[in-house]
Amino acid sequence: MFDLLPRTDHCFINGVWGPSENGDVLASLNPSTGETLCDFARGGASDIDRAVSTARTAFDGDWGKYTAAERGRLLARIGQLVIENVDHLARMEALDVGKPLTQARADAVALARYMEFYGGAADKLHGETIPYLDGYTVYTLREPHGVTGHIIPWNYPMQIIGRSIGAALATGNACVLKPAEEACLTALAFAELAHQAGLPPGALNVVPGLGEEAGAALSVHQGIDHISFTGSVAVGKLIQKAAADHVVPVTLELGGKSPQVVFDDADLDAALPFLVNAGIQNAGQTCSASSRILVQASRYDEVVSAMAKRYGALRTGPALDDLEVGPLVSATQKSLVERFLSQTDGLDIAATGSIVENAPKGGAYVAPTLFAGCTPDHVLAQDEIFGPVQVVIPIEDEADAIQIANGTDYGLVASCWTKDGARQMRMAKALRAGQVFLNNYGAGGGVELPFGGRGLSGHGREKGFEAMYGFTVVKTVAALHG
Ligand code: ADP
Repeated sequence: MFDLLPRTDHCFINGVWGPSENGDVLASLNPSTGETLCDFARGGASDIDRAVSTARTAFDGDWGKYTAAERGRLLARIGQLVIENVDHLARMEALDVGKPLTQARADAVALARYMEFYGGAADKLHGETIPYLDGYTVYTLREPHGVTGHIIPWNYPMQIIGRSIGAALATGNACVLKPAEEACLTALAFAELAHQAGLPPGALNVVPGLGEEAGAALSVHQGIDHISFTGSVAVGKLIQKAAADHVVPVTLELGGKSPQVVFDDADLDAALPFLVNAGIQNAGQTCSASSRILVQASRYDEVVSAMAKRYGALRTGPALDDLEVGPLVSATQKSLVERFLSQTDGLDIAATGSIVENAPKGGAYVAPTLFAGCTPDHVLAQDEIFGPVQVVIPIEDEADAIQIANGTDYGLVASCWTKDGARQMRMAKALRAGQVFLNNYGAGGGVELPFGGRGLSGHGREKGFEAMYGFTVVKTVAALHG
């Protein structure tokens, strides 16, 4: 079924494919149809244990001896194989996640870009020399943590593998990856491509399984030196607590409630595609989705009707039909979103998109919905929905914009649309977010751009060079030589 993976129901440990120790498998469902796509391994604590110990052996052995330039060359080779297999990877992701094919393809290309970027960066990370007392020479070394654990979600598996595993391998760590139970196939395919590119056994291990089994076992494992987690706030808190027990650093990326602020002088033609796409991309199942649109009163009606028009043209259907919107990842996710859609007292439905007639009945389809007249404290303006739902909130002035934009527990991404340069600078400083975009949203998701949150959106930075700082520890060396 998948050219890249003759079997989908194995773990990848120590460079070898094999069943989980108990031999159990789970069904992976195709969210476009609700039917079973294939089986995957139900890894457990003993598989995680094997993966961690083989990663340690790799780190202490072959893999640990690679020079930075050799690691870079290897990552570049993996990136090349990813590019050669972009169509296979995109189809696999579309079937597994429900992502429209074009969006799945963009993720596969981004995975290759991460490998290129971190491949190129591997030998450019270095320490410093520090002027100190007479008779001393002091310098710092940036060293890998050792064995890093990576627990990732189902919404952007390839992009998150790229930013997390890419930076960790580039800096010389050995990795154990636990992909999400809803979508683990491209993680397995990536392991196969890395293997084909020549990554030594144990440098990357992939153990699929349930969060409360394989995930929990990885987060409490005493052999892990760093944990990187992307997912829900509730599980992020568990991960941080588990990491506290063995005092290891954690990077958490936990989602958001990201605003776009439209001021009265905004270029609406430029803003419109971003206002809508940032909310419905990947059916709104994006940590950095823009789920709140704040609009200054004088442009409010104009923005609502222009957005409503675009919503009217949004079609939702099977991933392989490659429409604007695909299904949600699962029936569970659909019912979570529907629960929000039943709490809309006081809101006007400004527009909905459509679900195409041939969409299979068993698919997890939710029509995109735009709500207007929302107050900042409404549950739909405060809670992360993770579905194709946006609210429009009227605002008065700049002070109001800042207060409302910053008025949730999250702080991942924010954007502001205005031609006033001074206001752009004031807003960039005032917005509480890990990334701020001026007259755009997302900047095309560049792999070079540090990304991470404030507040409930988490802490630590991924992407760009910042991620490489996070995957290394600084050692200070002070020599007294007189
Ligand atoms: P979502 O709600 O988006 O599915 P989760 O936070 O539940 O996000 O899942 C993100 C990742 O965390 C997945 O790989 C999942 O298997 C894993 N996970 C879920 N529960 C736990 C847990 N108790 N311990 C460790 N990992 C977990």
